[in-house]
Amino acid sequence: MAIMKDAFAAYREEMVNKQIWARGIADEKILSVFRKIPRHLFVDEKERGKAYSDHPLSIGYNQTISQPYMVALMTNHLNLTGKERVLEIGTGSGYQAAVLSALAKEVYTIEKIEPLAEKAASILKALSITNVHIIVGDGSLGLPKDAPFDRIIITAGSPDIPLPLAEQLNEGGILVIPIGTRHIQELIVARKEMGELIKKKECGCIFVPLLGKYGWDSN
Ligand code: SAH
Repeated sequence: MAIMKDAFAAYREEMVNKQIWARGIADEKILSVFRKIPRHLFVDEKERGKAYSDHPLSIGYNQTISQPYMVALMTNHLNLTGKERVLEIGTGSGYQAAVLSALAKEVYTIEKIEPLAEKAASILKALSITNVHIIVGDGSLGLPKDAPFDRIIITAGSPDIPLPLAEQLNEGGILVIPIGTRHIQELIVARKEMGELIKKKECGCIFVPLLGKYGWDSN
C-alpha cells in the first residue's frame, strides 16, 4: 500500500491511542494499520475535519462509514493471520475493506449502491491497494463463484445470519455480523465447527440495515 505522510497522521495516532488501544485492542498489527490508512480520504471533503472523531459519519445515499472503534473491533474478532480470503458485505466507503486488505490475502467486498462501490474503488486504486475486489450486487446472497471464504464480515444490520453466507464460510472460519432490528443490533461472532455455527454475543451496536433477499425489505 502506498502510504503518504499527511497532515492527518497526528489525528490518526490520537484516534488509535484514545479510541482503539484505550478500549482494549492491543494487537500491534491492527493498531499499525489504523495509524497508516488515511481515513479522511474515505469521507466527503466537507467531513474531513471529523474523519478521526469517535463516531460514524455520513457517506451519502443514507449510508455511513462506521465508527473507527467498531471497524477495529470487528477486525480484531476476525483473527486474521495474513493468509485469509475474506468476504465483506457492505463496502460503503471502502475503509473497512482497506483495513482488511492490509491484514488478509484477498478481500472480496459487495456493495448494492453502485456509486458508492465506484467511489470506494477509486480511493483504493489511488492508495495502490490491489487485493480488494469490489462487486456490485445483493451481498446477502454472498459470492458463490468465489466461495468458500475463511472470514466473512457483514457491516450492515441483519435480522439473522443470511443462509448463503453461513454456507459460504469455510470450516474453522469466522463470521462477524450485527444482528437485531432495523435500528439496533448485537454484534455476533460465529465460528464454524463441524459444519455448525457456534455463536457468541459480543456487544450492542448500531448499523444501517442490510437490505436484500436474506436481509430486510427495501421498503
Ligand atoms: N464497511 C463500510 C460501512 C458500511 S455501511 C465502510 O467501511 O465504510 C453499510 C453498507 O451496506 C452501505 O453502503 C449499504 O449500501 C450496504 N448494503 C446494505 N445492504 C446490502 C446488500 N444486501 N448487499 C450489499 N451491500 C449492502
